[in-house]
Amino acid sequence: MERALTEPVRVRRPAARTRGRGRGLLLLENIGALIGQSEDISATLARIVSLVADHLDMEVCSLYRFESETSRLTLLATKGLDPASVGTVSMGVDEGLTGFVIQKGEPVMAIDALAHPRYKYFPETGEERYHSFLGVPIVDNRAAVGVMVVQTSRRRRFTRDEVRLLKAVAVPIGGLLTQLRLLQSLESKEEERRGYQERLLEAVKRLQAYERQQGSARRPAQVTAVRLTGWPASPGFGIGRAHLLTPAVSFASVPRRRPRTPRREALRFEAAVKRSVEELQRLKRRVQTSFPEIDAGVFEAQQLMLLDDDFLGRVKARIGAGVTAEVALESVITQMVEQFNALHDPYLQERAFDIKDIGQRVLRNLLGVAERDRSFATAVVLVAPELSLSDILLIDHDQLKGIVMASGGVTSHASILAKSLEIPAVVGVERLDEIREGEHLIIDGNAGTVYVNPSPEVLREYDRLRDEYRAFSRELDSLRALPAVTRDGCRVLLGANIGLLGDLAVAHRHGADQVGLYRTEIAFLSHRDFLTEGEQVQLYERVVQEARGLPLTIRTLDLGADKYPPYLHQPQEANPFLGWRSIRISLEMTNVFKDQLRAIMRASALGPVRIMFPMISSLEELRRCKDLIAEAREELRRDGYAFDPAMPIGMMVEVPSAVQLVDQFAPEVDFFSIGTNDLIQYLLAVDRNNRKVASLYEPLHPAVLRAVAATVRCAAQMGKPVSLCGEMAADPVCTLILIGMGLRDLSMSPFFIPVIKRLIRAADLATAERLADDVQRLTTVKEVKGRVFEQMRALGVIDLMETYH
Ligand code: PEP
Ligand code: MG
Repeated sequence: MERALTEPVRVRRPAARTRGRGRGLLLLENIGALIGQSEDISATLARIVSLVADHLDMEVCSLYRFESETSRLTLLATKGLDPASVGTVSMGVDEGLTGFVIQKGEPVMAIDALAHPRYKYFPETGEERYHSFLGVPIVDNRAAVGVMVVQTSRRRRFTRDEVRLLKAVAVPIGGLLTQLRLLQSLESKEEERRGYQERLLEAVKRLQAYERQQGSARRPAQVTAVRLTGWPASPGFGIGRAHLLTPAVSFASVPRRRPRTPRREALRFEAAVKRSVEELQRLKRRVQTSFPEIDAGVFEAQQLMLLDDDFLGRVKARIGAGVTAEVALESVITQMVEQFNALHDPYLQERAFDIKDIGQRVLRNLLGVAERDRSFATAVVLVAPELSLSDILLIDHDQLKGIVMASGGVTSHASILAKSLEIPAVVGVERLDEIREGEHLIIDGNAGTVYVNPSPEVLREYDRLRDEYRAFSRELDSLRALPAVTRDGCRVLLGANIGLLGDLAVAHRHGADQVGLYRTEIAFLSHRDFLTEGEQVQLYERVVQEARGLPLTIRTLDLGADKYPPYLHQPQEANPFLGWRSIRISLEMTNVFKDQLRAIMRASALGPVRIMFPMISSLEELRRCKDLIAEAREELRRDGYAFDPAMPIGMMVEVPSAVQLVDQFAPEVDFFSIGTNDLIQYLLAVDRNNRKVASLYEPLHPAVLRAVAATVRCAAQMGKPVSLCGEMAADPVCTLILIGMGLRDLSMSPFFIPVIKRLIRAADLATAERLADDVQRLTTVKEVKGRVFEQMRALGVIDLMETYH
């Protein structure tokens, strides 16, 4: 937790996990602080570039000053380039990408600057290592005064948020550059001193006004602005008044009174237990209907505990000793919570929360207080030390703009429910007592940040982001009903990758043609144990129904490596991605696997379902899976369950051995789906989650292109359909090549569907085929990218790269 806006001027570091917009606002605050305390402008600029590079995690951040009289740019400050080049590197506006920023008067982005026609190499800077480039103009008094540039060696996209943030950072720097120029001019042009002094004064006044604004935001006033940080648990951001969720009743506030007779106290207790069980039953049904990924077993477990003879007996024994039902209940609950807390198992410790929740419920019913069904007239952000599922379920979701919790993990039930409901959530927030009922809150679920009584600048920035986000969504909406078809009539199916039932709404919103990948392990991560066959049937049937007739490819469990549910013992492995993972786990835990196979097959009775196996690396594995399917088929027949006997069976091609053996696999499967996320890591020996080697993780590596092309070609020769469902499917740089190679089925995170659709609708197949042919003859990533960019420019779709990269 940081108490940002009230501190004296001091640069604060973002938490390592802080991401996105919250990080941006912190950066803006810090830059404001630096400017506010600036005595030496050059030193301040040097600190600013360093700050921007650190905060945005960029290897390079540089500031160039633009002189309109000479039309030249000069490097003023840099973090990452050779420091000796400061003041010496200078370029005309018609040279290089930095000059291009001035010419365009707007941000310029290049995923691979080296392949950009405007790229110019300045040997003094040592910048040949840096691939991706983002430059934004710095403007003061409506005139361009400089350019701010960030660069990375890894070829990467710059997000819209990063572009916005860099633009926002450039604003206060404009005044500084003007001031610097004026100061330097003053030194060198004594004769113009008076005129310049007036302008200098103006610049200083502007600066002072800016400082005052910053100062007023920092000054402790009646309302104190505070920034709290936690873990981002559900994305998005919301603005609302804080609503502190305090329990309706508490043991501490129960008035002490003389007990009635033990018999009457026991009857009161029994009645309260009965009402509590009924409430839990209602909640359980509600969760099962609306949120199938959530483990409704929580309510069942609570019901069982309430009906447990040991629990009931312990409370009644205390009542028998002459205390009220409330006192007896409190002492038993306290004892049980202490017992759970004493166990050094985080999972069991979490159960202590369930016990407290039960205690609250029975106490409320003992006191005759009804369950609160909370509805609000205005937007609220729920704030609580910890939230139970029932807390979230009972609140009016229309006005619920966010959830802030002190405890809870990212995979806790509350977090998962928040994600399903698309409510931003931040968990693990310390010092929640900084928030008071009714205070203004901004919650940033992407960054894991909560702003309490945000300053007007922060509020304005969020309002703007919200408006832009809405405009962006509207723009994308217009493509929903249109097919992804090239100008010469080639239809490409664009599918959605989903993990939660709630993702289907997003898939429909963005016009998905099908669900190309349903990652079933996500539901398993949020449960207390492997889902039973029955639980899975319920879940998959819901997914089939809500897919509304869209073909659905259900992938069997892909656990392990970075996806371990709490109940699956995680082995100590030196290389988990090469270890006990995915189909290897399933084939070892055949009972669990069979439950899943039977459940998927039963769901196939309701709609067009295909089943797909992940991480197949040998024919033996595939055959073992198929044997288990054959067994499951017999069992289902025997047990009288309906299923689609012709349900297509497919496999992912995501390890190099599978690429090599497509012809041998083909007779055994109905379809293939290329999983480039894993294929790239295994083919190039680059861990997909290791930032240190991220620049080597390259979808356009010639070896990757060959592997994809070979898979598509071989599958076609063998007459088997093939799709691609890795992130590569969502990357506009790859789209033309993939179509040109013969792919007609791409599946991606649904958000990207409109972008890829737009690109496909602008292309024609003959061109894409030529491009795919050409790039397969090239030997370096740089050449491939150069050729793709050239083609995208010729088709007039290069702006997609700028907009979405
Ligand atoms: C892949 O590896 O490309 C893929 C789609 O699967 P996941 O990302 O779930 O490993
Ligand atoms: Mg994979």
